[in-house]
Amino acid sequence: MLENCTFCLEKTSLIKSHIIPKFVLKWHKEARQGPIRNTSNINQRIQDYDKPYLLCKECDNSFSKWENLFCKNLFKPYQDNTFSPYNLNYTDWLLKFSTSLSWKVLALTKKENNLISFSDLQKKQIDKALQTWQRFLINQSSTPAEFEQHIILLDGIRESSMKPPLFLNRYLLEAIHFDVLLHETAIISYTKFLKFIFIGIIQIKNKSEWKINKIHIKEGKIDTLKTFNIPEILFNYILEQANEIEKSFDGLSSDQYDKINCNINNNFNEYVKSNAFKGMLLDNS
Ligand SMILES: [Zn+2]
Repeated sequence: MLENCTFCLEKTSLIKSHIIPKFVLKWHKEARQGPIRNTSNINQRIQDYDKPYLLCKECDNSFSKWENLFCKNLFKPYQDNTFSPYNLNYTDWLLKFSTSLSWKVLALTKKENNLISFSDLQKKQIDKALQTWQRFLINQSSTPAEFEQHIILLDGIRESSMKPPLFLNRYLLEAIHFDVLLHETAIISYTKFLKFIFIGIIQIKNKSEWKINKIHIKEGKIDTLKTFNIPEILFNYILEQANEIEKSFDGLSSDQYDKINCNINNNFNEYVKSNAFKGMLLDNS
């Protein structure tokens, strides 16, 4: 069936696109030796639904060059702990990669009519963000303007001044999902996979709160030891998501539970080296 490509608007046949890059799912599957599960319906494997008809083949391919650079220069070194000593450098590919992720998340949310709770004015702002990101990706503009991109590199939390959710570290190290967050002071796109969070700013009221790890246009470096404050909205959202995992485990069928345990037992030597195991230890320490 012919349909308009959401990116170039050409009427053509669309292909199934990965929103979360394929190498992330592959890495996770190999590291965990088991299927990836989505927190909202934990009995469903994430690969089964994460490929919507969004783009034509040409547009989908044009995104892959930034994905490959991100995979080689940032994803693998940080995920495998092989970077040195504490800095990760990047050039212009990181902003393009992050913008392409945020664009896909927002375009899909709009296409699937999941913007019901947004006002007309907010929907207008969303269209402006999509157009600005699209123009930046095809080099028609040199910046994403006010629709900035931010990156957060995650690790497990050992100490906390509050009682953290039971699954917080497993969420931080392992969860894979995306969303568009609507709050009275901010609208952002949120893409989280393994130890990475990418934020696309759509509208924010308090700019000083959102200075965290802004991705620069030409080059930059990420200091993995530097501490930073996460905006309250984001912090609360992360806690909510960690609580959702706990609830989803209650919803796991006994068949699925047995399958997971069987997978872990069959691959125990790999499992003890994984982030899943590290997260479980931290959550129970
Ligand atoms: Zn296209």
